[in-house]
Amino acid sequence: METAQTKPLAGKTAFVTGGAQGIGEAICRKLALLGAAVVVNDLRRTDAAEKLLDSLAASGVKAGMVCFDVSNEEAVEAGIAEAIKEYGPIDILVNNAGISLDSLLIRTKADDWHKTLNVNLTGSFYCARACAKSMIKARCGRIINISSVIGAMGNAGQVSYSASKAGLMGLTKTLARELGSRGITVNAVAPGFIKTQMTAALSGEHAEKLVEQIPLNCLGEAEDVAEAVAFLASPAARYITGQVLGVNGGMYM
Ligand code: NAP
Repeated sequence: METAQTKPLAGKTAFVTGGAQGIGEAICRKLALLGAAVVVNDLRRTDAAEKLLDSLAASGVKAGMVCFDVSNEEAVEAGIAEAIKEYGPIDILVNNAGISLDSLLIRTKADDWHKTLNVNLTGSFYCARACAKSMIKARCGRIINISSVIGAMGNAGQVSYSASKAGLMGLTKTLARELGSRGITVNAVAPGFIKTQMTAALSGEHAEKLVEQIPLNCLGEAEDVAEAVAFLASPAARYITGQVLGVNGGMYM
């Protein structure tokens, strides 16, 4: 039997950027399991996206997809407006879309710097601004930004990525202060190293060295991050805002 405990997000609509694969996909599946209708955003309607939408539909979840580039201001405004028209006001926004164009400072091209900041940080600002209007009207909402442990501790060779993810922490705290009085909570989840396509390039030896720095002795799974997002989206987290929740196996404390 479905209860408020098994489906705490029933009646809510979640919008997950970069939701077609990896951590975003796990977040879509978890929020859907808890009863939310899910709108998946990504750049393209890939095979992975089709598979996700089919499996959500097969489990009776109201789900759809709106494709746009989060770093394109006009596309974000149009895409979020389309999602609201089709699926109703967005109650939960998860800013998950992200890229990493890794290089050391002196090798970092300005173009790669701007691209990374534009997707990871500016894209989250565009999406938050577009969703906040209806959240303010409804006097409730959840915004969850996917930052990174690298935003907190830095990492040689990830110049633009670490700056973008640190920026997300600042954005999170300011939005939490601005929107709290309107019943909207804003938090960040900062994953450590999680097994997805983004980290697939880590070589055997490099991966082993990384694991040595992690007290829990393994890389994380996308589902570990999804669990943290689901908690912050749930009624249980009603009094939590402006926080950065690390999901990193203890590699940064
Ligand atoms: P992923 O497997 O590369 O997935 C990211 C998704 O975002 C992809 O589907 C990608 O689409 C989409 N995307 C990229 N640029 C976009 C844009 N401009 N507009 C809309 N969608 C866009 O990465 P992930 O590992 O799941 O990471 C998800 C988030 O967690 C990112 O913000 C990442 O920085 C963060 N994170 C990941 C780790 C980790 O260890 N994996 C650790 C800390 C933080 P395409 O594939 O078509 O480009």
